Amino acid sequence: MNDFTFYSPTRIVFGRDAIDRTGQELAAAGFGRALIVYGGGSVVRTGTLDRVKASLDAAGVAHVELGGVRPNPEVSSVRAGIEIARAEAVDVLLPVGGGSTMDAAKAIALGAVYEGDVWDLFSKRAAPKGRIPVVAVPTIPASGSEASDSAVISNDAEHLKCGLNTNLNRPVLAIMDPALTFTLPPYQTAAGVTDMIAHIMERFFSGEPGAPVTDNIACGIIRAVMDEAPRVFEDPCNYDARANIMWAGTLAHNGLAGCGVNIPGGRDGDWTCHGLEHELSALDTAITHGAGLAVIFPAWMRYVWQEHPERFLTFAQGVFDIEPIDDSEEAVRDAVTATIDELQDFFVSLGMPRTLGEFGVKEDDIDQMLAGLKINRGEVFGSFKRLTLEDARAIYRSAL
Ligand code: NAP
Ligand code: FE
Repeated sequence: MNDFTFYSPTRIVFGRDAIDRTGQELAAAGFGRALIVYGGGSVVRTGTLDRVKASLDAAGVAHVELGGVRPNPEVSSVRAGIEIARAEAVDVLLPVGGGSTMDAAKAIALGAVYEGDVWDLFSKRAAPKGRIPVVAVPTIPASGSEASDSAVISNDAEHLKCGLNTNLNRPVLAIMDPALTFTLPPYQTAAGVTDMIAHIMERFFSGEPGAPVTDNIACGIIRAVMDEAPRVFEDPCNYDARANIMWAGTLAHNGLAGCGVNIPGGRDGDWTCHGLEHELSALDTAITHGAGLAVIFPAWMRYVWQEHPERFLTFAQGVFDIEPIDDSEEAVRDAVTATIDELQDFFVSLGMPRTLGEFGVKEDDIDQMLAGLKINRGEVFGSFKRLTLEDARAIYRSAL
């Protein structure tokens, strides 16, 4: 087992009507003036925003708001939020929504205390030194942003989508009320389930040897999510299924699933598939993050598995009870192929796409996607297999 540091400082308040305790939790933590951040309006339509505000009012926590954060949030709304945060001297960011809203709030929190333009932090021209604390109220289990060290922001003018990982990004508190996710459309539910499975697999397939405790946590969470997802499709208001999926989304991305299989001195995972997927968001087609991953991850797996077949066999057994019939090369190949097929069929069974062509992505788009990859900046891309631009091209092409 590799040496690791596990740091997950986010206090989690989880359960029925947890959202009505937002105000009292903020007040107890000493916050008095919140900037509520939300997306395109789902929290308005569902009444969630009103419940949050009522709870803040009851606890005497003042609030201002920024709505309209779009999926794959753009740096312009972050800049708008920074202006409000400064002008109103807020002491806490309160995103109510999905990963897009939470990430926008995290970026506002970092940018409000940085003297330059916030994009400097995401383009890595400057390192963040401080932040306003963030309290997250997730309404979709997917990104795990409510406890992760990550924020991902798009810059349309530069055709870039950049992630920033820092412990400053970890929310101090997450208020998690599974019933808020009853209103999620099936497509968003499916994309969320795919994203959380991807977060676990990015860590599992780090290229490092396995660690049985972490491997069992990883495979166990994926199995549970695969069991619960169909229940939610049958009954969107199944509280227990929604609650289990929500908790899985947090554990998938708070670092737990990477302990001991992390890259020594580096990140807890490979993260190539997220890197490849982010370039889809940089195209003009609006592609949901999880849906992009549903296509990219199996394509990557088929391309790289021979680097460490033993990891694929551990995954095959741990998630799908698939074992090779003997230890011949052919039997291993068959078992790995069957595993990737099962995983991809599961994503497709939820309504996720199988090919990039389904998004309208064409061969001609590949050069633009390749241009944004960090390989072009001389950075290492991939640890399970270090990818060249030609490898990335082959993976994109196989996914068309
Ligand atoms: P999202 O982009 O925040 O939201 C997706 C859609 O779901 C939006 O249209 C939203 O509508 C809707 N929605 C959310 N909650 C709803 C509810 N309860 N009922 C009905 N509709 C609801 O989705 P996400 O998958 O959570 O976030 C994706 C973003 O997170 C991407 O930019 C991705 O790159 C990033 N990400 C971040 C991390 C991290 O650790 N920071 C990890 C993975 C991915 P409204 O806009 O109207 O609310
Ligand atoms: Fe993700």
